[in-house]
Amino acid sequence: MSEIETILATLPDAVSHTFGRGKPADYIPALAEVCPNKFGMAISTVDGHDYVVGDAEENFSTQSISKVFSLSLALHYAGESVFERIGVEPSGNPFNSLSQLEHENGIPRNPFINAGAIVVADILLSHLSSPKRDFLDYIRSLSKNLDIQFNKEVFRSEYDNGQRNFALAYYLQSFGNIINPVDQVLDFYFYLCSLSMSCLDLARASRFIANDGLHPFKDKPVLSPVQARRINTLMMTCGTYDEAGEFAFHVGLPCKSGVGGGIIATIPGKLSLCVWSPELGKKGNSLPGMEALKIFVEETGLAVF
Ligand code: GLU
Repeated sequence: MSEIETILATLPDAVSHTFGRGKPADYIPALAEVCPNKFGMAISTVDGHDYVVGDAEENFSTQSISKVFSLSLALHYAGESVFERIGVEPSGNPFNSLSQLEHENGIPRNPFINAGAIVVADILLSHLSSPKRDFLDYIRSLSKNLDIQFNKEVFRSEYDNGQRNFALAYYLQSFGNIINPVDQVLDFYFYLCSLSMSCLDLARASRFIANDGLHPFKDKPVLSPVQARRINTLMMTCGTYDEAGEFAFHVGLPCKSGVGGGIIATIPGKLSLCVWSPELGKKGNSLPGMEALKIFVEETGLAVF
C-alpha cells in the first residue's frame, strides 16, 4: 500500500467526530433528502493512479463545483475576454449576494460566486451549439465516464426555488452583462449545478487543473498552462465562498466546494482530489470534507506552501 492509500484509509474514522455538527443544504429541497453521514474521497495523481475510500463512487450533486468546469470551458472558447465581464477578487460575501453587484456596476467579483457563474453560463451559451449536450460531453470526456447525467429532480428544485438567481440574472442583464435571454441562461446554469457525479469522477475530471491543463485521458490540452494556473489561483482565493481565507490558512490548497457537500482540491504537479460529505458548516462548505483535507495535508505533507 502506498503512503497516500494508508492515510486515505484512516480518514472516514478520523472525520467521524464532525458528524452532526453541520447540516445538509436545504434551501434547494432536493438536496436535503441526502443521507447526512456519507463520506467519500478520491485522489487522482498526474501519473494516472486513482485511490478511493468510503462512498467515493456514489453520485452526489456537484452544485458549485461545476463552476470550475464551466469557467474552464469558457476560457477555452473566449480566452481572456471572460475577465472583461467578471472580476478575479474574493467577494467576502455569501455566494448568492446581490448587494455587491450594485456598487460594482454589474461586474461580478469572481467566476465562482453565483453572479459570476451566471455570466459564465451566458458566455457559453453564445459559443456552444448544443450547450447542455456539449457540456455533458466535456465533463464525460474529462472523467472518462459516459454514464454521467444531470439530476432532473435537483434541476427542478433549483428552478422552483431559484428566485435569487433570477434576481441576479435580471440585475446583471440591466447592466448589459447578460446577452442571451435570462430564462435560457438560468436553465443552463441550473443544469450545470444539477450534474450528478462521484468523488472519483470529479477527482479525475479535475486532473487537468493540477497538470498544466493537459487532458487526463487524451494527449491534448484542455487549457494552456497559464490558464490552468489561473484556475488554481481562483480556487485558492475564491473557491470556498466567504471562508476562502480559513481554507487557505488551514488547508492551503486550491479548492472549490459546492452545497451538495463536495470539495475538489488540487496539488499542482501532483494530484487532484475530491472529498464529499453532505453536512455543511455556516458558510456552506462540508465540515467533514474540510476536516479531511486538513488531516490529509498534515499527514502527507503534500501542500502548496
Ligand atoms: N445551485 C446553487 C445555487 O445557485 C449553487 C450553490 C453552491 O453550490 O454554491 O444557489
